[in-house]
Amino acid sequence: MTQLPVIQPPTRPRLPEWLRVQLPAGRAQAVFNTTDGAVHGNALHTVCEEARCPNVHECWSQGTATFMVAGQSCTRGCRFCSVETLKTPPPPDADEPRRLAEAVAGLALEHVVITVVNRDDLPDGGARHYRACVDAIHEQLPATSIELLSSDLEGNAEALATLLDGAPLDVFAHNVECVPRLDSTVRDPRASFALSLHILRQAKALRPDVATKSSLMVGLGETDDEVLDALRQMRAAGVELLTIGQYLAPGRPGTRFVPVERYVEPATFEAWQREALAMGFRGVAAGPLVRSSYKAAELLAAART
Ligand code: SF4
Repeated sequence: MTQLPVIQPPTRPRLPEWLRVQLPAGRAQAVFNTTDGAVHGNALHTVCEEARCPNVHECWSQGTATFMVAGQSCTRGCRFCSVETLKTPPPPDADEPRRLAEAVAGLALEHVVITVVNRDDLPDGGARHYRACVDAIHEQLPATSIELLSSDLEGNAEALATLLDGAPLDVFAHNVECVPRLDSTVRDPRASFALSLHILRQAKALRPDVATKSSLMVGLGETDDEVLDALRQMRAAGVELLTIGQYLAPGRPGTRFVPVERYVEPATFEAWQREALAMGFRGVAAGPLVRSSYKAAELLAAART
């Protein structure tokens, strides 16, 4: 009888050592548990968990987390992101802003990052709910600086004004995610580099006093020249704070996620950081494990000095 070949399921390539993470222990584990309690005790969601961020042990064991508001499901289906996609998610929870403010107060955060899911199903793209979350935190903790990692609101100028007019925000962030050539393979068809730059420009025009920030992932098939060109375009759009990090596919090869094309060496990130600062970005974090909310307080502080 002929022996049938054994077909192995696709496996992920071995991670380079600079992408390996340490698990918390001792006091760090206790702080991790407190963060976990503040998040789950208030029935909140975090992008740290939903996006399977590799820094969750480090950030939570230092008492910081990035909250994700307006639901657990996103109306878009980007191919780098593990957040669940639904065409019509449940309406935003009107009590979420209060619970969010409680959690931020419980963690005594001096700087908080809130990210959002896209809500293309709502007429204002979720802008009023996002704003209610920002306002609730500020009301309870007026000294806490607030960074909002926003959706593109489909470029809706009225919705952006609802979100930004008089908002107690320190940073308005919106991620370009990848170089423009890769938009159609990486992002949902409704998203694009051009639309992302448009919303960042509009935000700066509406609120010149609020810092704008964006984030680029690498390892998706871009060239080094395309990275530098993307940075130049972001700077020309007035973006002031920048993060660059390694893309890590949230699922195995063969799933809906785009595969990792390369692991960029730490020295290359350092070179991009220097180039970006020379282009005029006020704060830059670049490194294999950098994510848009990674060490966000430090980045803002560096930009203010
Ligand atoms: S880098 Fe951001 S998303 Fe990742 S664990 Fe830290 S706070 Fe959460």
